[in-house]
Amino acid sequence: MTPVAAPLKGVGVSPGVAVGPVALMGGEVPEPPAAGPVGAGAAGAVEAGDAAAATEAARAALAAVAAELEARGRAAGGDARDVLEAQAMMVRDPDLDERVAGLTAQGRSAARAVWEGFAVYRRELAGAGEYMAARVADLDDLRARTVARLLGVPVPGVPDPGHPFVLVARDLAPADTATLDPANVLGFITEEGGPTSHTAILAKSLGVPAVAGCAGATDLADGAPVIVDGGTGVVRVDPTEAEVDAARRRVQARRAARGGRSGPGATADGQPVGLLANIGGPADVKAALAAGAEGVGLFRTEFLFLDRADPPSVEEQREAYEAVFAAFQRGGAGKVGKVVVRTLDAGADKPLAFLNLRDEPNPALGQRGLRAVRRAPEVLADQLEAIGRAAAATRADVWVMAPMVAGAAEAAWFCAQARRQPVGRAGVMIEIPAAALQARAVLAEADFASIGTNDLSQYTFAADRLVSELASFQDPWQPALLGLVARVGEAGHDTGKPVGVCGEAAGDPLLALVLVGLGVTSLSMAPGSLADVRLLLARHGMDHCRRLAGLALGAADAETGRARAREAATGVDELGL
Ligand code: PEP
Ligand code: MG
Repeated sequence: MTPVAAPLKGVGVSPGVAVGPVALMGGEVPEPPAAGPVGAGAAGAVEAGDAAAATEAARAALAAVAAELEARGRAAGGDARDVLEAQAMMVRDPDLDERVAGLTAQGRSAARAVWEGFAVYRRELAGAGEYMAARVADLDDLRARTVARLLGVPVPGVPDPGHPFVLVARDLAPADTATLDPANVLGFITEEGGPTSHTAILAKSLGVPAVAGCAGATDLADGAPVIVDGGTGVVRVDPTEAEVDAARRRVQARRAARGGRSGPGATADGQPVGLLANIGGPADVKAALAAGAEGVGLFRTEFLFLDRADPPSVEEQREAYEAVFAAFQRGGAGKVGKVVVRTLDAGADKPLAFLNLRDEPNPALGQRGLRAVRRAPEVLADQLEAIGRAAAATRADVWVMAPMVAGAAEAAWFCAQARRQPVGRAGVMIEIPAAALQARAVLAEADFASIGTNDLSQYTFAADRLVSELASFQDPWQPALLGLVARVGEAGHDTGKPVGVCGEAAGDPLLALVLVGLGVTSLSMAPGSLADVRLLLARHGMDHCRRLAGLALGAADAETGRARAREAATGVDELGL
């Protein structure tokens, strides 16, 4: 009997199950050593047999790369076909072939000969005018593909095996996945990263499962069959037929369940829970509406301000805000469709030239969020005016909130500015532990609170959210973080004011139950997560949610809390989550 490979374990950061073969994300291809073992005898003399074998290997690799490019071109059609065929011709270039054969005859290994052969080609191209010089990057890619094949290492960048796959990588950055074809991605496994990583965000937006922080993932063999469980964080390697069948049934169940329910969010006993979308600009509205979002719970407005020397004008801002508000003013009388706009969250990971923020030793602890705009009050005044004008021109129910509010005095200052505009409510984000601890005093000043669990984790655990080695601190199941959420939930209940969650935590369906049990009244998330959260919520009454909240809050750590809640929840497996 073949030994069963041990499962790998990480953190489930996007729910669901995927079954399929691994495709490894390739890193940089190493330069093959100059004195390769192939072709050079003990005394440095080249043995004819070795040289011939090296030539043959190099030619076979070049031909295979060219054939693969041509096949991809045929499959893609259109302009892509022309581009890929032109690349295949570069690989089939007779001068390149001759040069590579010459180098193997001199004793270079096949990989080294290809490396050096392309280097000469590269120099020629770089010196042949602007248009040809622009092809140098293509040439580097072709060299990397051919050498990777000869060295038996993954091709750099996003793999394209020509069939659906589970993408495995050390970590994923937006630039890595820009060329990813979502139709072929079944799920993600990364060795690093956590619940707020790009992997998690991308997986949720595509609605596919993902496991992050999974040690040993990049040692998986290309093509190895796996089952990825984005709920439990378990990756089953070389599964049995019975396991594959069971996993496929869960995939089917999820597909069927997701198509089966729409409408506003509510618990099984009818307690409404607003299910809203996080958006980063007008371009995201379509996906939010398609996923049945009741409105927008976090409209990040930084997109208007980034990469600019001066702030955008009131008019430019009004136009962008109005486009979003108008999309949520569905039929009916009065103000409909809630849109919660977050005012500019500058500083730290979002530096803005015109705010003249000084270099600081700890930008995440420096002039950022509301603090940054308090130093430039005209920037906030203009933004609020633009929001007010856009709100007046549409029938959306526009709420405004400030990021990074530290306590009641800041809440009072911001809300006083916001209330000068015709907006529905003025509120604050709770992202700093001090504000959570003082939630009652903060809510005495603000009309609502929205908990940003991404930053609240960062500040609760003193762990920079941008440092991937510290990703486990971003796990929102941590009882200390949930304790702060509970405190804000209680304050909301006592003051009769709404408390939302708009960090990544809100998009975890199981955790969503816990958050509701802790007193949260609305959840805002990536549109791709709405269907799962809506479904699981509809299976649980308020008492059940409170019980799950108690289990998670009382656990010693995140993993225990998650496991206990999973066990005590209803229909998690059945819904394929
Ligand atoms: C948060 O911190 O949880 C949040 C929603 O804000 P952002 O991720 O934009 O900082
Ligand atoms: Mg934040």
